[in-house]
Amino acid sequence: MVEQGVDVLLVSVGPDLPWLIGYEAMPLERLTMLVVPRDGEATLVVPRLEAPRVIERPGVFTVAPFEETTDPIEMVARLSGAADTVAISDRTWARFVVDLQAQMPAGAWRRGSEVTGPLRAVKDAAEVAALRRAAEAADRVAAQLHAGEIALVGRTEADVSAEIGRRLVAEGHQRVNFAIVASGANAASPHHDADETLIEGGDVVLCDFGGTMITDGGAGYCSDITRCVSIGEPSAEVAEAYAVLHQAQAAAVAAATVGTSCEAVDAAARSIIDDAGYGDRFFHRTGHGIGVEEHEDPYVVAGNTTALVPGHAFSVEPGIYTTGRWGLRLEDIVVAAADGPDSLNRANHQLVVVDG
Ligand code: ZN
Ligand code: ZN
Ligand code: ZN
Repeated sequence: MVEQGVDVLLVSVGPDLPWLIGYEAMPLERLTMLVVPRDGEATLVVPRLEAPRVIERPGVFTVAPFEETTDPIEMVARLSGAADTVAISDRTWARFVVDLQAQMPAGAWRRGSEVTGPLRAVKDAAEVAALRRAAEAADRVAAQLHAGEIALVGRTEADVSAEIGRRLVAEGHQRVNFAIVASGANAASPHHDADETLIEGGDVVLCDFGGTMITDGGAGYCSDITRCVSIGEPSAEVAEAYAVLHQAQAAAVAAATVGTSCEAVDAAARSIIDDAGYGDRFFHRTGHGIGVEEHEDPYVVAGNTTALVPGHAFSVEPGIYTTGRWGLRLEDIVVAAADGPDSLNRANHQLVVVDG
C-alpha cells in the first residue's frame, strides 16, 4: 500500500478476503468488508448473523458486527478516516461501490488488485504445498481417465463431466470449479460447455478440469489440468498435431525459469506450433496464474514482460484447434523455483488411447 500510494484497502466478496484472513464472505445483499488502513488496525465489518462464521485472528483484524438497522456503509466510511486514495477489491458489488463513493470524500478510487495482485501472484511455501496437493488430486483423476476407469462411449459429455466432478471431490477437493468434456469437433471450441453430445468410438476427447481444496487456514487453492484421450487409435493427422503440441508444452515448461519473462514462456510454446504450421490454430494465451482463483496474475501472454520470480504459479496450456473436426490441449500447473521449473502435474502427457 505504501508503494502504491494507497491509504485504505477495502476488501469484500471474492478471493482477496479468504486469501488475507481465511474467511470467505457470502455474496449477500448485506455488506461484508475488511477495512485495512495503511497505518492502522484492520477491521472486518460483517452482518451480525454472519459473524459466528468468522474465525477471529487477534493481531490481524478485529470484528465489527452490525445490526440489521445499522448502515454498514457509514461504518466503513468512518473506519477509513480521511483516506484520499482508496483501493477496493475488484469483485465488490457495484451497489456498495456507488454508495461508498457517495459517502467518502476520497480523491482517487483504485482497483484492489493493484495492491493484492502482485502479492497473491507470488506463493509462499505453504501455498505451493497447497497447490501441489490439489494438482496431485487432479492427477489421480487424470490417471483414472487414462486407465479407462471413466467410461466414455455412449455417454453424454455432461454425464462424463459430472463423473469427473465427483472424482475430484472423492480425491479431496471441496469444490468443483469446472469440468470441460469436449468430444470430436466440440473440442475445437476451447471452453466448450459439456452438453448432451454422445461420445463415440474414434473421438478424441478433451478433458479440462479443476477444483478447490481448502487449507487449514481457510483459504482454498485450485487445481487445473487438461488431458486428451483418443478412443481407439488417432488419425495420423491428429497424432502429428499432438506430437507438436506435446513438444510445445514441454518447451514452455522448460523455459519457465526464474528471470524469464511471461511473454518469453508464451513464445516458447507458440514458436514451435507456428513453425509446424499450426500457428493460426493456437489462438489463446499459453497460460494464467493460479492460486485462490483459477485465473489470476501472472498471465503467460505476449506483452506481459513480468519476469518470473520463485513462487510464481501458472498454467502452461497450449492448444491446437481445427474448427469442425477436433481440438487438442495439454495443461499443467508449474511453479517457478530457484532450481528450475517445478511442474506440479505429473500425469501422463501422451495422447493416451482408451477403449472407451
Ligand atoms: Zn484448464
Ligand atoms: Zn487453465
Ligand atoms: Zn510431456
